[in-house]
Amino acid sequence: MPVTTANLGFPRIGPRRELKKALEAFWAGSIDESALRETARSLRAANWARQSAAGIAVLPSNDFSLYDQVLDTSVMLGAIPQAYRDLGAPDSLEVYFAMARGTRSDAEREDDAACSHRQESDGLPAQEMTKWFDTNYHYMVPEVEPGQAFSLCAAKPLGEFAEALALGHRSRPVVIGPVTWLLLAKSRTPGFAPLTLLPALLPVYRELLAQLRAAGAEWVQIDEPALVTDLDETAREAFRTAYADLGSAAGPQIMLTTYFGGLEENLDLALSLPVAGLHLDLVRAPDQLEPALTHAREDLVLSLGVIDGRNVWKADLGALIDRLAPVVKARRAIQIAPSCSLLHAPIDLALETELDPQIADWLAFGVQKLEELALLGLGLERGRYVVADELSANADAIAARRGSPLTNDRAVRERVAGITPASARRDMPFARRIERQREHLRLPPLPTTTIGSFPQTGAVRKARADHRKGTLDRAGYEAFLREETGRAIRWQEDIGLDVLVHGEFERNDMVQYFGEQLSGFAFTRAGWVQSYGSRCVRPPILYGDVSRPRAMTVDWWRHAQSLTERPVKGMLTGPITILQWSFVRDDQPRAETCRQIALAIRDEANDLEAAGARIIQIDEAALREGLPLRRAGWDEYLDWAVECFRLAASGVAPETQIHTHMCYSEFNDIIAAIGAMDADVISIETARSKMELLDAFASYRYPAEIGPGVYDIHSPRVPPADEIEALLRKASAAIDPRQLWVNPDCGLKTRKWEDVRPALTNMVAAARSVRGTL
Ligand code: GLN
Ligand code: ZN
Repeated sequence: MPVTTANLGFPRIGPRRELKKALEAFWAGSIDESALRETARSLRAANWARQSAAGIAVLPSNDFSLYDQVLDTSVMLGAIPQAYRDLGAPDSLEVYFAMARGTRSDAEREDDAACSHRQESDGLPAQEMTKWFDTNYHYMVPEVEPGQAFSLCAAKPLGEFAEALALGHRSRPVVIGPVTWLLLAKSRTPGFAPLTLLPALLPVYRELLAQLRAAGAEWVQIDEPALVTDLDETAREAFRTAYADLGSAAGPQIMLTTYFGGLEENLDLALSLPVAGLHLDLVRAPDQLEPALTHAREDLVLSLGVIDGRNVWKADLGALIDRLAPVVKARRAIQIAPSCSLLHAPIDLALETELDPQIADWLAFGVQKLEELALLGLGLERGRYVVADELSANADAIAARRGSPLTNDRAVRERVAGITPASARRDMPFARRIERQREHLRLPPLPTTTIGSFPQTGAVRKARADHRKGTLDRAGYEAFLREETGRAIRWQEDIGLDVLVHGEFERNDMVQYFGEQLSGFAFTRAGWVQSYGSRCVRPPILYGDVSRPRAMTVDWWRHAQSLTERPVKGMLTGPITILQWSFVRDDQPRAETCRQIALAIRDEANDLEAAGARIIQIDEAALREGLPLRRAGWDEYLDWAVECFRLAASGVAPETQIHTHMCYSEFNDIIAAIGAMDADVISIETARSKMELLDAFASYRYPAEIGPGVYDIHSPRVPPADEIEALLRKASAAIDPRQLWVNPDCGLKTRKWEDVRPALTNMVAAARSVRGTL
């Protein structure tokens, strides 16, 4: 009954974002390839050292990446589209970074978690990028074509295995499995199913396994997270075919790894595959342990993912030992591991010198999670008394968190308990509200507006940095922001926009800005998590009951509105987006936490209204990405998500117009929920899809008003007025023109004024010209 501790992957960005800095220096031409590779090598060495010092027995290799592990896999399999191939050797950095970032001179990406798109200009585009399952990590979408040929380039996995070996670690290489890789792949050929390429792909994987074995690998970790999603029979059959083949290859033993959820109806399938081990995510799906134990072959090595790789809380080690001890006794071999790769967790809590020590004591980042795992391993193998001191410290922290007034604010709990269906319902149905609003607002048809932010120029960022450093005092900083806001208001009036915004110059980030003002949130200094490539985010930690000690946005709004007669929108981030982009507490359902945030945002909306705001926009950029991986979970999620938005939006009078904004363009799956949100106006992204998505709204008969984005803000390109006009005409054919607003796709904070000025001027001109013909 040996218990082995294993890790599935470690963050590669470096505790001080060393990889980010090296990559950006390399792209800027200030360091060369060998310097970049040297940084990468030393990060890997440090990561192995850290994991082994924490006491982990099975260390991963090939979990490192210069950009993205899915892209690494595509290159390893030789799935490089021809256009990139022409740039150099298939394993060169030229080809690799061209796939990752395109070859444009302005390949810098947007600095916005929601709108991570590439800019358009000459040169090769980057491969498409999208979110990895339900995480905020973005991968490069593999591209295949009918008849796709594959060829193995195993330099990276072999090189990193050898590197670890030279440092004294016989690592377990990590590779993405063939079925998940194909299920994530896209083809430009309509109707072509990448999964049909499996027979062509398997020999490459067999060859890879043989080479890893020859290099000395005893185990390989093959990640197949697709096993926790809804699979059709073709995909299930693909798993059988693939692992019948790979299980018989002359390779290392296979640890088939699943994460981000439960196997559910795929459990039998997974257990039937001829592999040596199976990893289960027991954080997301604790209940799958029992059926797995009942049905697993006696010699199957079960790897139990019991430490949460997706969140920042200490594990309850005493409870885990109680739960796992009988399992360990009953099975021949058990591994324990984090639920998934630690890629999604911040690296080291020890770097946090400014966190409230009370809260810090509840947390475990990557390094601490591995220490927990090692303790758990010791306790399970040699008995609790061996780690008695550590267990009692852990128990104290767990108890302190559970009983802390920070996590239990009576007033907040009573308020949430007092929510009734009426709290989430506006006083009047939309059809009547909109009449009052039209009277109240007196806007022209096709009203023009923007999404909220204006360019965060160097001057704005510098003022914020100076203020943070203390070289610019509060009064000076605020005077600067008032000045900036005033300029934006005058300029919007000059070009003739109908509904103005204050510009959001005072906001560092749409979630952080609110989190910093709400109770219940903590912020880290170095809690970076990779979002894509060199880009990292530092999600706030939502540890306690959420309340709003004082108004957050009203003064800025009031200042802006004092400068103009035209309506200035009050601008708020919605509860789901705040929840989705934070590390949230795991001691109560997400829905409960979201309701607390919703009530705080509701208070803010009410205060804006009381101050005179006629329009309030509540952004929900992250509504769609919160959808559970499996369809069976969608309704439940959408029910509470919609309820939370409505809670935030329903405290205001019928004449106050509620806008929402969502910067993406896939609405088909959630259109009913969007309708149920009962916003008065929604602005969405459409410029790049040429208004096609309006069909979803039209066929659903979306009753409220819509602002389909007519200006692709992800590009510096200035759209000419006639192009915007054509889009507007197309939109007014799909949807009653009385429902239409005119606005860009998203906020303009990442753009430059040089682009924004002519683009919005053209937008206003286009709206006026279409208005004249309605
Ligand atoms: N109001 C925000 C802005 O304009 C919205 C950002 C977003 O949707 N990502 O910046
Ligand atoms: Zn947006």
